[in-house]
Amino acid sequence: MQPVEACAMLFGRLSHGEAVVEKIDFAPNKLQSPVRFEIDPAEVAAAFTEAEEDGLDFVGLFHSHPAPAAPSSIDLKGMRLWGNALWLILSSTDGKLAAYQLMEDKVEEATIRIEKHTV
Ligand SMILES: [Zn+2]
Repeated sequence: MQPVEACAMLFGRLSHGEAVVEKIDFAPNKLQSPVRFEIDPAEVAAAFTEAEEDGLDFVGLFHSHPAPAAPSSIDLKGMRLWGNALWLILSSTDGKLAAYQLMEDKVEEATIRIEKHTV
């Protein structure tokens, strides 16, 4: 059995084209699926409110999946929904971590820096 995809919202700062993550807000995977993830809208709303109080911007989303650390076709649909959010993807097969961003409907690799790890 494959593990359920882990997912989190990333908050921090976007400066000089670099994303700095200061807060990683893990959320339960609503779909309880090893290959897909969805965060409950109530969790999203709560996380956004808290981040706003902390003066942090929404940077992007993190999730793991049992495939290479690149967006799947399902992820690509999600990327279109989330606008210019960064997508940090962890491959649960080889442990690689990579970040992507949709730029003019093209997937580009992005730079992401994690400064603090707060769950
Ligand atoms: Zn995925």
